[in-house]
Amino acid sequence: MSKTVKLEQKVKAKGHEIAEELRGFFRDRGVFVVNLIGSPGAGKTSLLEGLAPRIKARAAAIEGDLATDEDKQRLEQLGLRAYQINTVGACHLDAAMVRDALKKFALDHVDLLFIENVGNLVCPASFELGEDMKIAVVSVTEGDDKPAKYPKAMRVSSAMVVTKVDLLPHLKCDVERMKRDASASAPGIPVFLTSAQTGEGLDEFLNWVLERARARKATPA
Ligand code: MG
Ligand code: ZN
Repeated sequence: MSKTVKLEQKVKAKGHEIAEELRGFFRDRGVFVVNLIGSPGAGKTSLLEGLAPRIKARAAAIEGDLATDEDKQRLEQLGLRAYQINTVGACHLDAAMVRDALKKFALDHVDLLFIENVGNLVCPASFELGEDMKIAVVSVTEGDDKPAKYPKAMRVSSAMVVTKVDLLPHLKCDVERMKRDASASAPGIPVFLTSAQTGEGLDEFLNWVLERARARKATPA
């Protein structure tokens, strides 16, 4: 085995160990964690903006971006507590980054934490952050071929949120195809059609997340 492969395996094992540590940390505090993965511009932050008024009393967000704290500011303006991680070049969040963030960002009175991953449908699918679920966020403006082209993102996600559906009348986008392709990789995956502009589908998605959070609380670790 080459030295590079050995080192890669070591790094992966360490990442897994930290993710498990985070999982225990979140469980002990009763925090349900949702890891949002999606392309740049898929509408991950907008989804959180739409949810903010509904969740701000109990939730917080960790924002992952290569640069700027614009997303954190957008959420804070709506009263949602947020912490920005800048990865300075890294194309995904890893468990160590989240652990470091939690040293500075206390989760008092929080039972729901959203982690918005760096915009990218590829490697965020492969990294555990101690989350309870990943959610694939795909917009109708990206093209309806995305669920077919990113099968792993579908497979590791507990649901797919389709965003910007208010734009459908202006686009050639076959939402039924998106659903079919998502199900081909992840049989039975729930799909939520949403618009942060009109509010469509947001309550439905949130209620489903909260239902899952309650179910987890009822299950011993
Ligand atoms: Mg964002
Ligand atoms: Zn990456």
